[in-house]
Amino acid sequence: MINQPNYSVADRLMRYVQIDSTSNPDAIQFPSTEKQLNVSRLLVEELRGMGVEDVSLNPEGYVIAQIPATVQGKVPVICFCSHVDTAPDCSGTDVKPILHTHYTGADIHLPDDAEQVIRLADYPYLHQHIGKSIITASGKTLLGADDKSGIAIIMDTIAYLMQHPAIPHGKIVVLFTPDEETGRGTERLLVLELGADVAYTLDGGELGSYEEETFNADEVLITVEGVMAHPGYAKGKMVNAVTVAAQLVDTIAKELPKPEQTEHREGFVHPHTMEGNAEKITIRYLIRDFALEGLHQFEKTIQSIAKESALAYPAARITCTVKEQYRNMKPIIDQHPEILQNTKAAYQRAGVEMNIQPVRGGTDGSRLSYMGLPCTNIFTGMQAIHSKHEWIGVSDMERAVDVLIELVQVWAGG
Ligand SMILES: [Zn+2]
Repeated sequence: MINQPNYSVADRLMRYVQIDSTSNPDAIQFPSTEKQLNVSRLLVEELRGMGVEDVSLNPEGYVIAQIPATVQGKVPVICFCSHVDTAPDCSGTDVKPILHTHYTGADIHLPDDAEQVIRLADYPYLHQHIGKSIITASGKTLLGADDKSGIAIIMDTIAYLMQHPAIPHGKIVVLFTPDEETGRGTERLLVLELGADVAYTLDGGELGSYEEETFNADEVLITVEGVMAHPGYAKGKMVNAVTVAAQLVDTIAKELPKPEQTEHREGFVHPHTMEGNAEKITIRYLIRDFALEGLHQFEKTIQSIAKESALAYPAARITCTVKEQYRNMKPIIDQHPEILQNTKAAYQRAGVEMNIQPVRGGTDGSRLSYMGLPCTNIFTGMQAIHSKHEWIGVSDMERAVDVLIELVQVWAGG
């Protein structure tokens, strides 16, 4: 067992969240916002301050640090990864973090907005934190624990390892990416240059959660082109794209599962945008399933409904195109059984019960896994993310630090 670190994780989180690093899904440049790099630059400085020599912010906006091994011989290189941006869904400007020590279970009225109250009844997981410390924002912004808690956990771990060189571990790579929330976090990353064998994102929720499976994801784009005519003289001529598209959407909604009806391991089909006019309509669907076969089945059904619609309206032009988004990393992770074995051992040694959950979404890990770096996701404790109610328990973050300190030793065979 490790001797208890003198955790710096809560202090770090409180500092990092005060730096505005919201990303922008509409921007073309990368990183999508320049201000994200204010966090990145600080992290480079802090890592140098810990004595990490090989650390830089590369021109693409990634912080990459290499911590040398403390053991001889060939040991797998582990990469720890978090994202510096916060979600554009909620303001991340002037975040004022509040540390609530000895949370009693009473309602937490956030001081900057009387409407914002965090209640035990709404967040049952708060029960686990009664008598302990939690961190919230002040009512006007999100907190940014997603994913600055992950950053704080990694930084605390590295600080501890640098101060305790007797702890046996292989080479460790630290990676802080911009733009995870815009889905572009790995866009400019040269994975091979990291030289890592296995990676972990610190971007999960409840204590003990461990994620090695995400959705498979595609987008289906349907376009309906109608036939225009003067509405006063349209009889027998006009084919209205709005009418055709409405029927199409309705039929698909009746045949295939929707997000609002599904949970756990069920997939869904989600029309998220429909725009245009009587002449032309475009409809965008998100298609999600844990099994690739299920994903393809959904797409086949949509295509056959579109075909039927084309038969019913021969003068209209209906096209249906599928675009790949990301893939479930589980088949890749399963090729490396030692990942689950070693991670399980580290949780156990840190006294944390492991709870394996599929992610009903994507992570940077799914992309990294398909880029050749198998990557699973470890908890940080973050809750109610992307909202003004976002909160995190300090003890959850500290347990995550314990897990990482054990993890590097397990991988080194120690
Ligand atoms: Zn995140």
